[in-house]
Amino acid sequence: MIIDKMKTIIQESDNIVFFGGAGVSTASGIPDFRSATGLYNQKNKNNYSPEYMLSHEFLERNPEEFSHYYKEHLIYPEAKPNKAHLALAKLERLGKLKAVITQNIDSLHQMAGSKKVLELHGNLRDYYCTSCHKSYTLEEVMKEEGMSICDQCGGFIRPDVVLYGESLNMDIMQKAAEMISKCEVLIVAGTSLVVYPAASFLRYYRGNKLMIINRDHTSKDEMADYVIHDDLNEVMDELVKEL
Ligand SMILES: [Zn+2]
Repeated sequence: MIIDKMKTIIQESDNIVFFGGAGVSTASGIPDFRSATGLYNQKNKNNYSPEYMLSHEFLERNPEEFSHYYKEHLIYPEAKPNKAHLALAKLERLGKLKAVITQNIDSLHQMAGSKKVLELHGNLRDYYCTSCHKSYTLEEVMKEEGMSICDQCGGFIRPDVVLYGESLNMDIMQKAAEMISKCEVLIVAGTSLVVYPAASFLRYYRGNKLMIINRDHTSKDEMADYVIHDDLNEVMDELVKEL
């Protein structure tokens, strides 16, 4: 069985890196934005696309509506880490996992206990004033339903996430590429590997233990040494069960 081979590799390695996409969080009730049932297919009252509502341009033009939108659609206060998050936290605790690289902004890896998390698209824990850069927490920002205003300068407070039309943080991108290039085992899960930067990351990997775990076929399955098309929650749980 391919899963038994993967288990053995994970048991023997202390240099694993995990790269995950939206599929890692779906079992926690956070929709995959790009899937058929996800946010990007929902209509909103002004007929703007969700991509536009979550863009830098919309933030600049209409911070009030932008704020209502992300507070209503991106923040899931009840979401809890699932088996995949817990499996990765366990691997890190055992000294086997060197980094989680994620496209998700939901902080569920940290909630599960992971410390070494590289968030390519930022997060929804941290907020800052767009004028004076004073920091704010989620709790502070959620006191208002709409726009939150800086108590120091009256500026607009925004989440520390990468919006459409904004560039990714190059330091985090470089660190992620470096971790991938140095790891022995690379586990890629919950992403169809179509969207930048996910698709481009795999080329940094130099090993021969690339594992892809995803419900559906991905554009990079042919590159992988081990591919499982199944529920990644169950697969991740199974992979660490005997550790
Ligand atoms: Zn300010």
